[in-house]
Amino acid sequence: MKVELISIGDELLIGQTVNTNASWIGEQLAKRGVEVENAVTIKDDKQSIISALDVALKRSEVVIITGGLGPTKDDITKKVLTNYFKTELVINEEVLTRVRGFFEMRGKEMLDINIQQAALPKSATILHNQVGTASGMWFEEKGKVIISLPGVPYEMKHLLSTQGFDLLMGRFGVQELYNQTIQFQGVGESYLADKISDIEDVLAKKNIKLAYLPSTGMLRLRFTGASSDEVKKTISETINELYNRLPKYLFGGEGKGLSEVVGDLLVEENATVGTVESCTGGALAKEFVQIAGSSRYFEGSIVSYSNELKASIVGVEEDVLKEFGAVSEEVVLQMAKNGRKKLNVDYCIATSGIAGPTGGTDEKPVGLVWIAIAGPEITRAFRFQFGNHRGRNIQSTVLTGLNLLRCQLMGL
Ligand code: ATP
Ligand code: MG
Repeated sequence: MKVELISIGDELLIGQTVNTNASWIGEQLAKRGVEVENAVTIKDDKQSIISALDVALKRSEVVIITGGLGPTKDDITKKVLTNYFKTELVINEEVLTRVRGFFEMRGKEMLDINIQQAALPKSATILHNQVGTASGMWFEEKGKVIISLPGVPYEMKHLLSTQGFDLLMGRFGVQELYNQTIQFQGVGESYLADKISDIEDVLAKKNIKLAYLPSTGMLRLRFTGASSDEVKKTISETINELYNRLPKYLFGGEGKGLSEVVGDLLVEENATVGTVESCTGGALAKEFVQIAGSSRYFEGSIVSYSNELKASIVGVEEDVLKEFGAVSEEVVLQMAKNGRKKLNVDYCIATSGIAGPTGGTDEKPVGLVWIAIAGPEITRAFRFQFGNHRGRNIQSTVLTGLNLLRCQLMGL
């Protein structure tokens, strides 16, 4: 079924209220295997509501509307819908009794505008609201379903959870969806799309969709298809193929973060790790420490932000620092090699870079980062050019450092 959401409310458009209703409904429907195809946000305005409905009913089978059902003059949804579906408002005795009880319980006087909340469109099926005074309404028109709900998030949730979702699932009997997500480090969306375009074509023929979900230093790839054995098998085979094709970037499934994956590899090898950090200032160490049980492999860290400490504590040669500068291959190699000895670990990750947003030069621009990995057999340094946002540069350096260690541990 094609579902469309219409969120009504001036406050949503001026940024006063975040449209959490749309995200919640989208999430809940996705869990039930239903995809929201469109979501629009409009003003509390008659013509806007009519136009949005006209458009939605052309392209969707189900339209879920939230907002504008309250008793005040600015809440016009009920009136507009009553006219739109050419029906009339009649007092619903059950609702009236409940609204009356609502006011009695709170010891408040019931006003005429509250009585009007029990006046509901004759042709609509009523979704009964046990937590507020505005009822939900279910209209059917030419095989399509239109549900109107109050904007107050907990009332909307209550009406859908107790009645709306069951009615919808019963009415449309949707197919369950299956999805799997895998995680990459060190590749951008376009690079990945290029590398797997042949796979994407094959999946499309089997109605399996791919979603690219980037975040700083990471990229998640989600596969979605019908919940059938065939689809599950195809997705699992595809993921195996991707592990072979992109081993340096694909590090695991959804459940585990990169530091956990690295931790598992260290445990497997019975090896220890430490870090010598300049531009990441201990953020790498924090990644390790966040994982429960990391004391089995993480020994500790030296945060040597200044050149003085790089020399005095880490033992980077002063003339090397002077000749090449702190952000250089030579220095980061010494940081990793010396760190390995000083921390008495099997592997040491060292970072040195210009996190920004200031401090760059033509030769060494903001975002330039050197990372070195020293291990029992080899020590290697890698140069990266990230962007000019300090926080994102640090995050990218952390994730890249972890992934480089993962590659070294896996012999890649
Ligand atoms: P009421 O009976 O309270 O008037 P209503 O159906 O008229 O309910 P609105 O007036 O549109 O709903 O909104 C009531 C409250 O719910 C407001 O505080 C509003 O900011 C919030 N709200 C409305 N729509 C949304 C939404 N899409 N996401 C989150 N909050 C919302
Ligand atoms: Mg209102």
